[in-house]
Amino acid sequence: MTPEEFRRQGKAVVDWIADYYEKVESFPVMAQVKPGAIRASLSKSAPRQGEPFESMMRDVEKLILPGITHWQSPNFFGFFPSNTSFPSIMGEMLSAGLGVQGMLWATSPACTELETHVLDWLVQMLDLPRKFLSTSAGGGVIQDTASNSSLCAVLAARERATRYASNERGCDGKLVAYTSAQAHSSIEKGVKIAGIGRENLRLIDVDGNFAMKPEALDAQLQRDIAAGRTPFFVCTTLGTTSSNAMDPVRAIARICGERNVWLHVDAAMSGTAALCPEFRSIHDGLELSDSYCFNPHKWMFTNFDCDCFYVADRNGLIRTMSVLPEYLRNKATESGAVVDYRDWHVQLGRRFRALKLWFVIRYYGVEGLQHHIRRHVELAQEFASWVRADKDFELAAPAPLNLVCFRHRGGDEINQHIMDRVNQSGAMYLTHTRLRDKLVLRMSIGQTNTELRHVERAWKCIREAAAASA
Ligand SMILES: *Cc1c(COP(=O)(O)O)cnc(C)c1O
Repeated sequence: MTPEEFRRQGKAVVDWIADYYEKVESFPVMAQVKPGAIRASLSKSAPRQGEPFESMMRDVEKLILPGITHWQSPNFFGFFPSNTSFPSIMGEMLSAGLGVQGMLWATSPACTELETHVLDWLVQMLDLPRKFLSTSAGGGVIQDTASNSSLCAVLAARERATRYASNERGCDGKLVAYTSAQAHSSIEKGVKIAGIGRENLRLIDVDGNFAMKPEALDAQLQRDIAAGRTPFFVCTTLGTTSSNAMDPVRAIARICGERNVWLHVDAAMSGTAALCPEFRSIHDGLELSDSYCFNPHKWMFTNFDCDCFYVADRNGLIRTMSVLPEYLRNKATESGAVVDYRDWHVQLGRRFRALKLWFVIRYYGVEGLQHHIRRHVELAQEFASWVRADKDFELAAPAPLNLVCFRHRGGDEINQHIMDRVNQSGAMYLTHTRLRDKLVLRMSIGQTNTELRHVERAWKCIREAAAASA
C-alpha cells in the first residue's frame, strides 16, 4: 500500500469510525449472534491474491459488526466501563503509525520519557502518595492490565520476602498471600502464576458492606505465623468488581506494616474517581502501601489497554524482573541515567501507550475529566434513588460511586428474567453478580457519552421487563 492509498483509505476509516459513533445507539448493545455464526460467515481459507481495501471494509460492516457487543454505546451498563474517546483513538493511531517498540530507553527515548512524565502527572492529578513519583525512590509504569500489575506486585513481594532467593532457587512453599473473598479473580491467577500455589492464598472474610475485615486478616496472619508460615503479600481492593466495595486500606496497612508484609492496592476502575477531591477519601492509608494500580482503560476515556502501576521502591521491582542478555546491552542503560521499562513487567516488548493517555489528559484537562466523572457518579446516584423509591426493588450493596447493585425483591428467577429480557431486547446491556448467595443486577455507569436520558430509559426497560416477568 502506498502512502497515497493509505491517505485515501485511512481517511475513509476515520470517517467510518466517526459514523459508527454517530449511530452506535441504533445497534443492539449485546451482540445477538449464536456461537460459531461469525466464523461460519468467513471465507474458509486465506486469499491467494491480495484483495481491494474496499472489500475488507464492506465485510467489516456485513460480517463483523453483527458480532460486536457495543461497549461504546451509551446504553452499555454491563461489567465495568471500558470507555474510550476520540483523542485516545487518535493517540492509538499515532502509536500504530510510529510503530515503536519501547522496550529500552534507547529503542525510542520519547516512548519512555513521555510515559514517566505522564505517570508523574497522574500522581499529582489523583493526589497519590509522593513516593510513587519517579523523582522519589518509586515510580510508575504502564502495563497492559491490572491483572499483570497485580502479578508483578506478587512477584516483587515474593522476592522481597525471600531476599531474592526465590528467583534463584524457586519458592519454598512457606509463603502465604491474602486478599478478600470479594477480590478480583486476577489475584488468584497471579498467585498461581507466581508459584505461590492457590492453597496458599487466604480469602479473608468481608463485612456487611463486602469490605475486608482487618481483624479477620490479623487473626489469619497470626495463625499462619504460629504454623511456621511466612505471610508476604496482601492485596486490598478499592472498588471490588462485584459490588464496588472499598477495603479499609489504613487499618490493613497498619497490620501489614507490623509484619513487613507487602501491601498492594487494586483500584482498577474506581481509582479514576480520585481525580475529584470529593472522592479522594478512598485513598485513606494509601501512603502506607507498597504498590498501587488503576486502569485508565476502564473509566478514564482511554482505549484498552492501559493500566498504571506504581511502586514505592522501584529497585525492588527492577531487581525482581531484570535479566540482561548481551544483545540488549547499550551505553544508555550502562550509564544508569535512563529508565528501561522492560525491567518493570513480565514481557520484553512494549507499545507506545503513553501517547493516548497524554492526549486524553491534554484534550480534556483535569477539569474536563472531573466533569465527566462527577456526571457518571451523579447518574448512578440518581439511579440508586429510583431503586430505593420503588417498592419492588432494593439496593443489594452500598453504591459509593458509579456502580449500583440492585435486585427485584421477587427472587433470583425474576432477576434472571429481567436481565435476559433487557439484554435480548438490544436496548441496553446489564450484567449480574452474586452477593450473599443472591443474584444481583449491576448497573455500571461510565461510558463516555452516557447521559440522563439513557439511564432513564434503562430504568424504564428494567421495570417493564419486571412487569412482564412477574
Ligand atoms: C476489572 C478489574 C480487574 C481486571 O482488570 P484487567 O485490567 O482486565 O486485568 C482487576 N481488579 C479489579 C478490581 C477490577 O475491577
